[in-house]
Amino acid sequence: MPAYDYKCDKCGETFSLIMSISEKETKKVKCPKCKSVKVKPVYSGFFAVTSKKS
Ligand SMILES: [Zn+2]
Repeated sequence: MPAYDYKCDKCGETFSLIMSISEKETKKVKCPKCKSVKVKPVYSGFFAVTSKKS
């Protein structure tokens, strides 16, 4: 499943979620830190996705 990166507009937290495309369409994405729904998807480039695995 693809992972989607988001950034919270409210607290600036960045987080990624793994979900299916259908989930992405129906799910309300919330910031895990402050629970705000004001999050924006972050596009770090189509191929140059950082391989930050920790
Ligand atoms: Zn937040």
